[in-house]
Amino acid sequence: MPALADDVIVVTGASRGLGRAMVERFSDEGARVVLTARDEERMDEIATDLPGESLVVPADVRDADAVERAVARTIEEFDRVDTLVNNAGVSLLGMYDGRNRLEEISEEDWDTVLEVNLKGVFLFTRAVLPHMYERESGNIVNVSSGLGRHSIAGAGPYVSSKWGLEGLTRTTALEAEDRGVNANAVDPGGRVDTAIWDHLPDDEREEILDPDVMNDAAVLLAAQGPDGVSGESMPAEEWEQRLG
Ligand code: NAP
Repeated sequence: MPALADDVIVVTGASRGLGRAMVERFSDEGARVVLTARDEERMDEIATDLPGESLVVPADVRDADAVERAVARTIEEFDRVDTLVNNAGVSLLGMYDGRNRLEEISEEDWDTVLEVNLKGVFLFTRAVLPHMYERESGNIVNVSSGLGRHSIAGAGPYVSSKWGLEGLTRTTALEAEDRGVNANAVDPGGRVDTAIWDHLPDDEREEILDPDVMNDAAVLLAAQGPDGVSGESMPAEEWEQRLG
């Protein structure tokens, strides 16, 4: 029996990169996958090649109504949400091909990064929790970063968003304990070859990880039952050792 047979898993940021890789792996493991991001065409293409059932629901994670609609569509189609993977994310590195110090950052760019990486997670989590609480079962998996635990110059909004996400993960876990829902954060453990790093020259790409780097950890986290590990944050490899 596949590890995630019939589970319903919502993945945000499913149109490319790490999100796409997790969607494909979850489907291989028997899950029914809900793909959400803004680029419907790319998600349709991904969904066509999946071995199992899936649903494509375009939504901007910053838009509360769109998020509520995406979760309502999921419940209508599959009747429940077993796991939510909050993966959608942006960084100014990806937007401007370089680092930006605080005095150079516009209010608009600050808002974009914080709203996608942090508010979007709040909105999706708020929308799924009542359904998970009703069934006393569920997993929230937040995609963080090493920059949720340390800092670098030139990435203020991203660092702030991921530190915020670490706090939100712990609060979610505390509120959800005794209600059957686990909330954890996972990060790839290094740079991953996705659109975020499109600007890197070839000679700096040697150390870069493949987009499937979090797949094993994501499956282990999604397979957790009520009373699983909760409130923790660690790189994918450590999750594999902890839960594998
Ligand atoms: P990516 O290839 O750029 O993918 C980002 C995803 O987020 C896309 O599917 C994009 O879809 C979605 N997204 C962006 N803005 C959105 C919005 N407003 N509403 C809905 N979806 C939105 O980046 P990635 O590297 O796979 O990143 C995935 C996660 O991993 C992020 O949380 C990132 O912080 C984290 N991470 C990445 C690395 C790395 O080295 N790549 C390292 C540590 C952590 P649309 O454009 O179609 O909306």
